[in-house]
Amino acid sequence: MPEWPEMETYRRLLNDRLCGRKIVRATVNRAKSINEPEDAFVAGVTGTRILFVERRGKQLVFHLDDGNRLLLHLMLGGWLACGPEGPKEDDAFQIILEFDDGDHLYFGGLRLGHLHRMSAKQANEELKPLGPDPFDPRLTPDAFRSRLAARRGKLKSVLTDQKLVSGIGNCYSDEICFDAFVYPGTAVPSLDGETVERLYGSMKKVLAEAASYGGYMDKPLTPNDRLTGGYDSRCRVYDREGEPCVRCGTPIVKEELAGRKMFYCPHCQKAE
Ligand SMILES: [Zn+2]
Repeated sequence: MPEWPEMETYRRLLNDRLCGRKIVRATVNRAKSINEPEDAFVAGVTGTRILFVERRGKQLVFHLDDGNRLLLHLMLGGWLACGPEGPKEDDAFQIILEFDDGDHLYFGGLRLGHLHRMSAKQANEELKPLGPDPFDPRLTPDAFRSRLAARRGKLKSVLTDQKLVSGIGNCYSDEICFDAFVYPGTAVPSLDGETVERLYGSMKKVLAEAASYGGYMDKPLTPNDRLTGGYDSRCRVYDREGEPCVRCGTPIVKEELAGRKMFYCPHCQKAE
């Protein structure tokens, strides 16, 4: 599932490409991907311009010039493509938006994901439960510590809870724990102050680095997109079971935690 760095990469690329563009046609191939009758959605978006694209946690918010918003959650397996024609290897797109300059935005893999049209007020309500962005200046080390202090669960489960901090999922929770030398299955109440401070620093470091390399998505936004997916080969532990730890050479271990995969180095990452 795309997380903070992947959605941040999309946000940057889409803002460069789509700001000010007018939607001249909309096609919906999967009614479940939207939140209103197809006719209403198509009539509602056609003729509007995209003012800018915002990211909230793992979601994108397209601000339209009629005051409405399009809320995109890619969930598991969703992806985006841009261009005059869709990528040839996969023409099963759930939604397609066409713009006044002939460009298209293709929404693929929206089996669980969705693109919902709503008012600004509804969008704010929808996004209200989300915790702060990892880079929100109000999320100081102290604020991070007190948010964690209220939790009882295992570290990985807590880090991936969008109400604690928004945007961290299965991959980056493991990468952050590796960077901070902490076992992701550690119970949060047993973390000491120093470790929490390290986690805070690692969270920002790992996410910023991953975004600077374009995240790990394997599908480029356009054929010329050299940014998207550059972090895939740089993940240190995620999906690297049995491979040597980049710090100590010990094989990376995979475990299950509450039904999710968890990767870590059993030598460098000790339980507190
Ligand atoms: Zn190691």
